[in-house]
Amino acid sequence: MVFKCQEDSFLTEFTSKVIQCEETKEPIIEYGKVLKFEGYQVILENTILFPAGGGQPHDVGWLNDKEVVQVLRKGDQALHFTKEPIEAGTDVVQKIDWSRRFDHMQQHSGQHLLSAILEKDHNLPTTSWWLGAEESFIEINSTSISDNILQIVEDTCNKLIQLAIPVTVKFLKANDPDLNEAHTRGLPKDCMDTIRVICIGDIDENMCCGTHVSNLSQLQIIKLLGVEPGKKGKTNLRFLVGNRVTKAFQKMLDREKALTGLLKNEPSKHEELVTKLQKNLKVTNKNLQNVLSELAQYEIEKIKNTQPKPKYVFLFKKEANPDFNRAICKGLENEGMFVFVASEDPDKPKEGQIIIQGEESDFKALGQQITDILKGKGAFKNGKFQGKVGDLGGINKCKKLVEDYFNNVV
Ligand SMILES: [Zn+2]
Repeated sequence: MVFKCQEDSFLTEFTSKVIQCEETKEPIIEYGKVLKFEGYQVILENTILFPAGGGQPHDVGWLNDKEVVQVLRKGDQALHFTKEPIEAGTDVVQKIDWSRRFDHMQQHSGQHLLSAILEKDHNLPTTSWWLGAEESFIEINSTSISDNILQIVEDTCNKLIQLAIPVTVKFLKANDPDLNEAHTRGLPKDCMDTIRVICIGDIDENMCCGTHVSNLSQLQIIKLLGVEPGKKGKTNLRFLVGNRVTKAFQKMLDREKALTGLLKNEPSKHEELVTKLQKNLKVTNKNLQNVLSELAQYEIEKIKNTQPKPKYVFLFKKEANPDFNRAICKGLENEGMFVFVASEDPDKPKEGQIIIQGEESDFKALGQQITDILKGKGAFKNGKFQGKVGDLGGINKCKKLVEDYFNNVV
């Protein structure tokens, strides 16, 4: 069956009769994400809501005032997923979420154009494609594509968009000799019952069930974002078409504005400034490392010289690092003391690292309670516990625990 949306992809409102309405628990797939659903599947005499297929995601819309959250193809019928039932025999007004659909049309027709140019001009055939929530990609049967070719492909596509070349749909019978002309590009064969060919001027003919623009100028612009390795022997070419380019550009402008505020200088200076900051940070970190190392030696001497000799050491320095903690433990290794050191993770406040060192009997008495309070993970090995903690909020409670324990132990 050829759906109304495939006859005229620009229809946004249409009246049709409900044939069937059944309960369903089939999940909703939203750009590859699987979402639980419980509701109804409605079949109509015809539909302007596109059921997912040929790489194009499903439409969403309304049947009267009832929301349609997914449309799937089953055989030659379309199942409309609604939260509420609609009685069979009812005439309903179908409405479509046009901004979502037009976006899909721009990405899908854009894909056809890109695939055609890649194959015709550069012998780079498309083996599959993916339309994502923010970006799309074409899987190309090649291990690499040069930046130079990408630039030429983008320029060619945008020139053809400027020429406003018509995009038309041909319906062919299975024995039509014209059929040999049209590609399938190894794309999903879920719509093969309807032999529908999308033609871009005399540039491309391609079998497809999707909804398309009627003229390349409706694509506005194609922007290639780059390539990345795909499956074995394939390369994924990421791209944006039309409104998505404008949206992505606005996001980049917002980020640039935020960076201009942070770096207090114009965008052309950002790279230079960040490089400088990174260099400075490296030097500062090295200096801090040296200071912490000296501080660790100072702490060790101070503890060693304390009279009477302390039974335990409890040290929490937020700004310390694992090296500092390890140096303290090493320096006090043979002093017969219970040592607890902790530091905070600079990137995740409240989380951090602890080391406990001492007699196994003391650890047995305190270890479990300390790791419980601080939500720690690790093991006691060779007279030492070393591990990560998830909540340094309980550090004072631990300090009290250790103090009480050693003040009561004879
Ligand atoms: Zn297609």
